[in-house]
Amino acid sequence: MGVVGLGQPYSISRVTREQMFSSPSLFHRNNCYNLLIMKSAWGAALQQLDGVISLLEKDYPDKKKFKKAISLLRKPQNVISKKLTIKLDNGKKKSFMAFRSQHNDARGPFKGGIRFHPNVSEDEVKALSMWMTWKCAVVGLPYGGAKGGIVVDPKKLSKTELERLSRAYAEFISPHIGPRVDVPAPDVNTNEQIMAWMLDAYEKKIGQRSPATFTGKPIALGGSLGRTEATGRGGVYVLQSYVKEKKLKPEKISIAIQGFGNVGFWFAKLAQEAGFKVVAISDSSGGIYAAKGLNLDKITKAKKRYGSFIEATKKEKFKFISNKDLLSLKVDVLAPAALEGAINDKNAGNIKAKVIIEMANGPVTPEAEKALLKKGVVVLPDILCNAGGVTVSYFEWVQNLHGYQWTEKRVNSELKKKINLAYKEISRVVKKKKVSFRKASYLLAVKKVVDTTILRERV
Ligand code: NAD
Repeated sequence: MGVVGLGQPYSISRVTREQMFSSPSLFHRNNCYNLLIMKSAWGAALQQLDGVISLLEKDYPDKKKFKKAISLLRKPQNVISKKLTIKLDNGKKKSFMAFRSQHNDARGPFKGGIRFHPNVSEDEVKALSMWMTWKCAVVGLPYGGAKGGIVVDPKKLSKTELERLSRAYAEFISPHIGPRVDVPAPDVNTNEQIMAWMLDAYEKKIGQRSPATFTGKPIALGGSLGRTEATGRGGVYVLQSYVKEKKLKPEKISIAIQGFGNVGFWFAKLAQEAGFKVVAISDSSGGIYAAKGLNLDKITKAKKRYGSFIEATKKEKFKFISNKDLLSLKVDVLAPAALEGAINDKNAGNIKAKVIIEMANGPVTPEAEKALLKKGVVVLPDILCNAGGVTVSYFEWVQNLHGYQWTEKRVNSELKKKINLAYKEISRVVKKKKVSFRKASYLLAVKKVVDTTILRERV
C-alpha cells in the first residue's frame, strides 16, 4: 500500500502538483495546469473553495495564519491507495484500484462514503472528501471529510466476488479507520449489505465489536431507522424551506430528477408525499416523463421487472425521455441525483429549470454554475441539499456509541431541525452578503474549519 499525496492521472511531477495545490497563487498562474485540473471534480472543488477566500480573509486580522490554514485545506491530509486482488468465481485473480482520501479532521473524525464505480479516481475521491468536510461543517456535525472508492463496475461481479472485494477494502483501510478516526458509509453502488461485510471484516481484524466505525449498516447490526431515506428526506426539507421562504405552493411546483438510486428514488417519493409534482425521473439508460405527475409505485415495479427505464418504456405504457432532454425540461425544479459534472459548460445553456437542487455531489460544474446564475437560476448546493445522509449517519454513530436506538420519528424530527437551521443560516448570509447559496454555504463552512484549524495551532 502506498500513501500517495497526489495523483497519477496527469503527467505533472509530484512536487509541481503539490506546490500548485498548496498555493492558490501558483495554482492560478499555471494556465496549462488549470485547463487540465478544472475539468475534474478536484478542480471544481478547489475552484469552489477559492471562490470564498477573498470574502473570508477580511474577517481574519492574522492574514498569515488564515493563508496557512487555507493552504492546508487545499489538499487532503492523507490519501491512501492500494491495488486489491481478489479471487473470481472462475478461480482466476483480478485486481482493482482502491482509494481512501481523508481531507481534514480539525472538527472531528473523518467521515465519508465508499463508492464502487468504473470512473472512481484519486482526484474524484479527493474532491468528494473535501466536499464532505464542508458538508459536515455547514450542518454542524462534529466530523471532518473523507471519501473512498474502488475502480470497479459492481454489476460485472457476482455476489460472492462483491463480498470478497468489500472485505478486502475493509482490511486495506482498517489501520486508518475507527469510531474516533474515520467513519465510512455507503455511496454510489454500495449499500447496507456491503457495510455489513465491511464491518464484519474490520471487527475480525481488530478483534472486537465496533459498530460505530461504519454507518449505513443494516438495522440488525446497529443501523439507524430512517438512514436509507435520509438523503432524499433532507433534500425535501431544503426544498420545503426554500418554497416557504419564497411563499410558493408545492402543488404548483414541477420537478425533474436525474438518477433513480437511493437518493433520486427517496427524493422523488418524499417530494411527492410532500405535495410536489414529480414529472420526470431517469436512470443511466434514460428516463420516464408524465406531465401530470409520475406513478412512482408503477415505475419502481417496472424498473425491478425490466432492469432499466429504457426496457421498461419498451414493454409498458410509459413515455420515454432521454437523459439529455430530461435535463432541459421546462420545470420549476431540476434535481440532479446521479453523478458529478452532469450539468456542465456543454449543457448549461439548455437548462430551463428555475431552481436546481443538487442532490448528487458536484453535479453542477463551476463553469455551468456561472452561466446559470447569470440566467437567474437558483442553485441550491450539494453540501446542504444532500447533507441529510451524513446527518442521519451521525445520529447512527451517536446511537452506536451509546448502545441505544432512537425511534424513526425522533430521527426524522432531529434531521428536520438540523437541515432547517442550516438553511436558515445560509439564507441569512445569501441576503446579507448578496451572494449565491453556494457561496453562502462555503462562507459558513470554510470559516468553521479555518477557525478550528487555527485553534488547534495547525498553522
Ligand atoms: P446509487 O448508486 O444508488 O444511484 C445512482 C443512480 O444514478 C442510479 O439510478 C443510476 O442509474 C443513475 N445514473 C448514473 N449515471 C446516470 C446518468 N448519466 N444519467 C442518469 N442517471 C444516471 O447512488 P446514490 O447513493 O443514489 O448517490 C447518488 C449521488 O448522491 C452521488 O453523487 C452520491 O455521492 C450522492 N450522495 C449519496 C448519499 C447517500 O446517502 N447515498 C448521500 C449524499 C450524497
